[in-house]
This record gives sequence, C-alpha cells and structure tokens, in this order.
Amino acid sequence: MFGGGILEQVSFYSYNLLCGKAEELRRYLVDSIVSGNKLFVVTLNSQIFLRAQQIPDYDEALRHATFHLPDGSGVVWAVKRHCNVVTDRVPGIDTMLYLCEEAKNRGWKVYLLGARPDVVNRAAENLRNKGVNIVGYHHGYFEDQTPAEEIEKLKPDLLFVGMGAPRQELWIYQHMQLPFKLAMGVGGSFDVIAGVKKRAPKFFQKTRLEWFYRWITEPISRSRVPLDVAKFFFKVVLDGKDGNCEKIR
Ligand code: UDP
Repeated sequence: MFGGGILEQVSFYSYNLLCGKAEELRRYLVDSIVSGNKLFVVTLNSQIFLRAQQIPDYDEALRHATFHLPDGSGVVWAVKRHCNVVTDRVPGIDTMLYLCEEAKNRGWKVYLLGARPDVVNRAAENLRNKGVNIVGYHHGYFEDQTPAEEIEKLKPDLLFVGMGAPRQELWIYQHMQLPFKLAMGVGGSFDVIAGVKKRAPKFFQKTRLEWFYRWITEPISRSRVPLDVAKFFFKVVLDGKDGNCEKIR
C-alpha cells in the first residue's frame, strides 16, 4: 500500500496497475505531475488488453507506461479475483475531465491529438469555453504530416491522445521525448466532449455494462465487443493467478 495507505499497485500481466478509490487515484496522478515525474498513463480495459496480447509492439508500449488505471470493469473484476485487490473503475474520460479542471486551476497547458478534424476542433472549443487553456490540437488521421513538431514547440503540460487503441498508446510510446508532463490515451473521449457521441447513461455505468450500451448503440463498428468481453473473461480464468497478478505495494 502507498499514497497514505489508500492505494495499491499490482503487476497485472506485467502492467503497472494502480488500484484504489477513483478520487485518490486521480489525486495521486496530479501529485506525481507536480513532483516533476513524466507520466505515460494507460486506461486499461479488456479491449486494450486483448489487443496487446496479439500485437507484441503494443504489449511493449503498455509495459513501458508509468501507470495503468482500471478503466474497464473486466480489469476491476480480474484484480479482485487474482490479487484480492479492490479498486474503483476509473473511466478515461472522467480522468481527462478531472485533469482538465486541475489544468484550469494550476495554469497547465493542454493539447488534444485525435478524432476527426471537426470533432477535435469542437472538443477544443468546448473545453476553452470552460476555461481550459487548450494551446493546440490536431486531428488523428494524419499520415506523414505529424503534429510532433507543433507539440515540441507548444510544450503542453497535458497531452491527451484520442486515436483509439492501439494507435494512441503506440504514438505516445514513440514520442516520449516530447516535452509533456502527462500523456494519456483517451479513446473516443473527444467525440463525447464535442457532443457528437453520448456516454452511456448512469445505469449502464453503475452496473458495469457501459460496454453493452456501446455495443447496442453502435452495433456495426462494435460487433466484436461482447466477444472481447467473453475472451477476456475466459483468458483470465484459464491463465489463473500465477505470475499474472502480483501485489507490488
Ligand atoms: N481515431 C483517430 N485516428 C484513427 C482512428 C481513430 O483519431 O486513425 C479516433 C476516432 O475518430 C475516435 C477515436 O479515435 O475519436 C476512437 O474512438 P473509439 O471509440 O474507437 O476508441 P475507444 O474508446 O474504443 O478506445
């Protein structure tokens, strides 16, 4: 245990996963930024996990993250089962919005990378209207023309990358030399902040069925979601605890 005895850290398939109450985990992130650590944060869920099992480069990138946060209910269930560690689920979008609020109060600069051009533009505008200092943004469909140079010049404190898995974490891992304090993959969060997609209603969030809501509302693009949830469940059960989930502190 650490962070005043309220947080726990486990090695979940060699990923450095922080567990505890959502509020404490977010506070710990902020404290780590303030302490001058450079952070690469992954919001771990079963889809990201399964992708990493299939793509060695992606697995390597995830192993190099400073922290993983339990974004998916499958991960919350797995660490309880294997490590007897209880944790809140910490959805990436909530962490992003919390950090934006901190950024506002602390004068941190924020950069958004990802989503369609109109979407990221709208997300930036909405955050600016709330007083967040968005110093720049770029869509996530670039090929050769990389936004790295612009980020290098703007030196954002927080770099949110919403290009979906595995692209977003691979991009962060390949650009760790950029001058940010925290970089975090946030999936489709810009679409929600821009107002083009809705989050699952509270009922689905509380009953840990957000994935189910996303599947029924986007059945074509998300046709693999229930299959992934089932695959994750069987993998965790069949692999067992040994060597896959160890308490670190
Ligand atoms: N996206 C992107 N570049 C790509 C592919 C996707 O910027 O090459 C964006 C897409 O527009 C969306 C986000 O990445 O805003 C992915 O959202 P999704 O819901 O698929 O990600 P998840 O939340 O499942 O990780």
